[in-house]
Amino acid sequence: MFQITHNPIEASNLTNTVVALTFSKAKLASVAAKQVKDISKDVEKAVKNSRFTGGLKQTHHVDALGHKTMDGLLLVGMGDEKEATEDTFRTAGIAAGKALAAKGVAEATFIAEGTKSVDEKTAAVAFAEGVALAIYRFDDYRTNLTANDKGKFKKLTVLADDKSVTKEFTQLKGLMEGSELARDLVNHPANVCTPSYMAETAKKLKKIGLDVKIMGKKELKKLGMDMMLSVAEGAAEEAKLIVLKWNGGKKGDKYKALVGKGVTFDSGGYNIKVAMMEYMKSDMAGSAAVMGTMCALAKRKSKVNVIGVIGAVENMISATATRPSDIVKSYKGLTVEVNNTDAEGRLVLGDALAWVIDKEKPSEVVDIATLTGAISIALGNRYAGLFSNNDTLASKLLAAGESVGEPVWRMPTDKAYHAMLKSEYADLSNIGGRTAGSCTAAAFLEEFVGETPWAHVDIAGVAMAGKVFGASNSNGLDGANGFGVRLFVRYLEN
Ligand SMILES: [Zn+2]
Repeated sequence: MFQITHNPIEASNLTNTVVALTFSKAKLASVAAKQVKDISKDVEKAVKNSRFTGGLKQTHHVDALGHKTMDGLLLVGMGDEKEATEDTFRTAGIAAGKALAAKGVAEATFIAEGTKSVDEKTAAVAFAEGVALAIYRFDDYRTNLTANDKGKFKKLTVLADDKSVTKEFTQLKGLMEGSELARDLVNHPANVCTPSYMAETAKKLKKIGLDVKIMGKKELKKLGMDMMLSVAEGAAEEAKLIVLKWNGGKKGDKYKALVGKGVTFDSGGYNIKVAMMEYMKSDMAGSAAVMGTMCALAKRKSKVNVIGVIGAVENMISATATRPSDIVKSYKGLTVEVNNTDAEGRLVLGDALAWVIDKEKPSEVVDIATLTGAISIALGNRYAGLFSNNDTLASKLLAAGESVGEPVWRMPTDKAYHAMLKSEYADLSNIGGRTAGSCTAAAFLEEFVGETPWAHVDIAGVAMAGKVFGASNSNGLDGANGFGVRLFVRYLEN
């Protein structure tokens, strides 16, 4: 992430490209209007000759205008002032970040201000977060970028009355490092980001204070996690269970557990995918969210005890791969008939959930996974699906998602969906038929959690945008966006 600093709101601090919030009817926000009043006529004229109305996600650049210190003014639309929430500032920040990146400026100065319902500090941090989310790039595999092609943005200065934003910016940096780690992991191709790469990445987090433990095939076999292991049977890479612990809370306080699906590539297995297989490097986005969250908690020195569990496997085809109709035994003891090898995430998560609940007795557990294509049919790329056996936990996640701009929408858990998982030969089938695919997948997971408060977040529709889907995500971000990291950090710290 770029450098971010605070300065008082003073005319002499209006340097570089200045970013000003603008509400409907292109009305400059009041603090910004006062600061740039010398050039108000020029701004008016520039707006008049444009399509800019101050709508959310709109931006309009006004040239230097002969101002003493400014290089230019970037107007950023916020929409209706009365409707602005914390996430409106973040969304506007994303639009601003994209405009600054496209323009190729290295430094910008943001005039922060709140509204009646959002205080200045919240507004400043959310906006800066949006800029940071938009400035992120993934250029690891580009060898022919010229200096002019590369990302240039280096520094954001935020002008605000509230000096305590400085402390918040340090925390924001920790959050963004976690988010960027998650995005990198998802963006890396599957020939790089393998289960062992995930494990090595986790080990590197020891130096920021996380406890990290890796279990391979031998240990998992001994534990009886055959259901998870069955997914990796066709792959050259062995399965890894990655366990990360952050002990920032009181000693003896129970852990909250996060469990992530880490299918580093999903060919579908013998039920081979017929479409969008090139997108399946992102089938570990849930585990990336868990790793990113654990990284952010450590960087932010969050006062919570959290255990993150990642089931990392590759779902491939070979002579040893699991066949449709194979029956495997789970850690919990239930036998499962694998009637579709492409419904593999639940096999990984079911064992990981049962193991962490049995071993660590967490107070609550939340899993996150690109679990079903059906969830994107239901909710598109705006909401992740939320399933839970506990209303309190569900409402915490709903509230956190809304405020950080990673919204979740509650879906039903019902005995009827469990009944759809009947198997002819075993305790359970891993698929429930053609309808309600996301609900039967969640019901399958629920079979492995018992009484522990549990929630499942299905991010298959929201984790990544790109050419395959033909559009950027609803938040305006392209590629992997780290969905889950900001949601979880907010939920865990609140
Ligand atoms: Zn699959």
